[in-house]
Amino acid sequence: MNSITSGHFYKNVMKTVEAAGQLIHINPNALERLKTPRRSIILSVPLKTDNGKLLNFPGYRVQHNQTLGPFKGGLRYHPHVNLSESAALASLMTFKNALLGLPLGGAKGGVCVDPNKLSQGELERLTRSFATELGPFIGHDKDIPAPDVGTDSQTMAWILDTYSKEYGYCQTGVVTGKPVEIGGSMGRLSATGLGVVYCIEKALATRDQNISSATIAIQGFGKVGLHAAIEAADLGGKVVAVSDVSGGIFKADGLNLPDLVAYVKENRFISGFPSSEPITNEDLLELKVDVLAPCALDGVITTENAGKIKADIIVEGANGPVSSNATNILYENGKMIIPDILANGGGVVVSYFEWVQDLVWLFWTEEEVRNKLKKIMDASFDSVWHFAKEKNQNMRISAMSVALQRLEKAMKLRGQT
Ligand code: NAD
Repeated sequence: MNSITSGHFYKNVMKTVEAAGQLIHINPNALERLKTPRRSIILSVPLKTDNGKLLNFPGYRVQHNQTLGPFKGGLRYHPHVNLSESAALASLMTFKNALLGLPLGGAKGGVCVDPNKLSQGELERLTRSFATELGPFIGHDKDIPAPDVGTDSQTMAWILDTYSKEYGYCQTGVVTGKPVEIGGSMGRLSATGLGVVYCIEKALATRDQNISSATIAIQGFGKVGLHAAIEAADLGGKVVAVSDVSGGIFKADGLNLPDLVAYVKENRFISGFPSSEPITNEDLLELKVDVLAPCALDGVITTENAGKIKADIIVEGANGPVSSNATNILYENGKMIIPDILANGGGVVVSYFEWVQDLVWLFWTEEEVRNKLKKIMDASFDSVWHFAKEKNQNMRISAMSVALQRLEKAMKLRGQT
């Protein structure tokens, strides 16, 4: 076993891949190809700090599969970033893009660094160094990065600028999740959260429930969690609890989202928000709500706490928040899990829209983007739901099965099996 495949997260993803592969009787050669990434790039990312010291941070880009199109996936800045985590996330991108019917492969990467400890100038220099090292491996027709944990539209703007300078021409299609002023798409900021909410609506509908009568708890108040909360509240959902790295807050009759967003803008973190009760991240996961959306990090629901989860529906806004053993416990307890490759697919769908708009230099309105996103999310949910009903399987295995069927067909056509 090598350092790519040895991590818990990677093993968890591959357990689902093996189980789904067995269910659909996948060609063993296709499965074998999908079990390891095509390329794993390890980089040294130098940063000259504000006090003149040179530090090297480990950087990674794992390109898992490009059967369906160019590699695509986010860049993460977080102290836990490592090769195996990047590989797990890259493989999830392959399966997500296949499930959503996008002409894209899967990749992921990042830098093992705590961005909260860097000044804005240091962040820019680190990002430009990373872009230089990544340069030979990315491009609008090769590999297209996007924001993930700890990175944002500004990070993408610096990568675009560095890449374009070194290339000699403006290359807007090299990254997605850019500011709209420099080739970004309308609706990209809220896309992942909005996709989570479309999935919540569809999941509730399978139980004859409506979002306007649902209570919702959301872990994580970043690019995914914040927008999921706003969009859910806009549709009448009662968001009773949210959290971030500083802790959580609870209000039984629903949090005031506009006030909370303004508070976080000013104070950076959620904790201390008035007219709410403080709770821990652990408490939030165990609340009695209709819908729980873990939208922060992976591995937050494990065999340790799975038995204590009271929500009926768990929607994986984050990648890998529920371990595979915890998944089994939740299913035994009658819970419905909307898996990450479906639930958080809204981000890459609108990234795909952004890439297309950049390639043709024609830009869509926010309404167009939201309507097109809804069509893809609803159709993807339906394909997974129908597979689950027909084969009497859970949604995680069903989502992976639909993705594998599409990949297997494409691999066969390309003569890869
Ligand atoms: P982000 O950095 O914008 O936000 C992360 C949030 O999680 C922050 O509120 C942070 O305070 C919180 N957090 C960090 N550590 C925590 C902890 N230990 N306990 C509780 N909360 C904690 O990141 P994001 O882009 O919102 O990504 C969140 C998840 O969604 C990740 O798993 C990411 O891979 C996944 N995802 C993101 C996108 C996207 O478009 N950004 C798309 C698909 C999936």
